Amino acid sequence: MFTKVLVANRGEIALRIIRACQELGIKSVAVYSDADAQAPHVREADEAVHIGPAASSESYLRGERIVEAAKQVGAEAIHPGYGFLSEREWFARLVRDSGLVFIGPPAEAIAAMGSKTSARQLAIKAGVPVVPGTTEPLRDAEEAAEIAKTFGYPILLKAAAGGGGKGMRVVREAKDLAASLDAAKREAKNAFGDDAVYVEKYIEGPRHVEIQIIADQHGTVLSLGERECSVQRRHQKMIEEAPSVAVSPELRRRMGETAVAAARAAGYVNAGTCEFLLDKNGDFYFLEMNTRLQVEHPVTELVTGIDLVQWQIRVAAGEKLPFPDEIQPRGWAIECRITSEDPANGFLPSTGRIEYLHLPAGPGVRWDGGVESGSTVGLHYDPMLAKLIVWAATRDQAVARMHRALKELTIVGIETSREFHLRVMEDAEFQRGDIEIQWLERRLPELVTPKAPRDSVRAAAIAAALLADRDRHTRRPGAAGANRGNGGASRVDAPLSGADAWVIAGRREGLR
Ligand code: ADP
Repeated sequence: MFTKVLVANRGEIALRIIRACQELGIKSVAVYSDADAQAPHVREADEAVHIGPAASSESYLRGERIVEAAKQVGAEAIHPGYGFLSEREWFARLVRDSGLVFIGPPAEAIAAMGSKTSARQLAIKAGVPVVPGTTEPLRDAEEAAEIAKTFGYPILLKAAAGGGGKGMRVVREAKDLAASLDAAKREAKNAFGDDAVYVEKYIEGPRHVEIQIIADQHGTVLSLGERECSVQRRHQKMIEEAPSVAVSPELRRRMGETAVAAARAAGYVNAGTCEFLLDKNGDFYFLEMNTRLQVEHPVTELVTGIDLVQWQIRVAAGEKLPFPDEIQPRGWAIECRITSEDPANGFLPSTGRIEYLHLPAGPGVRWDGGVESGSTVGLHYDPMLAKLIVWAATRDQAVARMHRALKELTIVGIETSREFHLRVMEDAEFQRGDIEIQWLERRLPELVTPKAPRDSVRAAAIAAALLADRDRHTRRPGAAGANRGNGGASRVDAPLSGADAWVIAGRREGLR
């Protein structure tokens, strides 16, 4: 087993990996940018290395600098988390060529699954059903029109290098094709530096169901079951759960076998996810494979009892997977992504200082977060602050528990997605599990209500009272180095005051 692991990420996922290291008795090394000098992941790690200015291109994306840091501190392995360098083939290769272990799949597997077109080719060869469409980038609009004729409109133009829902355009009529292709190519070029776009049939009303797999270096590839991720806005996941109401044990077995076949075809090792669309007839189609840990991995951990991050590390160190072939989920888990976005304002990013953070607790509640009272939220990084995850014996109980936990959660100082999640948990269709990938876009106007002016005035008053209260009662966070090893110096540790009581009263009324 490794003695020291460098975590090449920030925020909640860096903390998640540091916690796994701590439980395995491995020393952890954080890296951080100027903007993160005071961040919790820096304080919780055993060591921390400064890697550059706030912009990720000058810090968290500097692979060479990060490898150099790992060597400097004597780490044997690097965990990339998700995003940033996690799916960069060149980085996995660089880590390996530097004599270190990349905690993830081999560079060759990342390359094989890296472009959606090459992943489709590989899936087809392995006998995995894919959405009807092309496996090569489109030459021009004429070619796209010819292909569209063969399976009919609507079609979906997709960036081969795509991710995060970018470079995707639905085309409902032939007359819109040329303009949409131009737009998709432009967006793909801007986002990924690659304007290759291909075409898929646009499937109406399917669910997004994905299979978590894990593979060791000794030939075992296992499916850990499905996650339902249909609650999406602009093709991005907002709420995930495991298992899925639409998946029977028999379908779970078939989807699991398909995902394992795709992973084997790519020579896959470590944790990965095969994403599928599941239509109303129970037919499923491979979308892509994510060659890394997913944001939503905790719901699988809670229903399988398997610590995915620990097993990523153990597998990378050469351990064998000890689990049986057929793993059935136990109970139900739901995850809500808590982002610094204002649902009442078109999910506009919200920035500022978190003046007060009260975390939910009690039975079956897990908080995977990267912020605390006093954290500053800027625009440099992803707006996801934390994930609130619950487990209960049944889906109904999990929905009720998530609602209760969201009510307990209090965040003062910035706008967050909390209110939106509360409305979803109260929604009758969501409660029935009656969801598909277009469900949220259709229901969004009802689920986000503009804030009443009275609430904003009240929230501002709460924030002002808290500010005054903090100045009276708390120690100010010190300089970057001053907090090291002192687990709570930058927290607001004031005793419960009149202002806190106000916040709690506000929370009961649905205010933040
Ligand atoms: P990205 O890598 O950008 O996230 P994906 O291929 O994973 O792109 O697709 C993201 C989401 O877009 C899916 O979860 C689904 O909601 C929608 N989507 C993708 N392909 C199709 C399709 N052929 N038909 C309908 N919806 C699709």
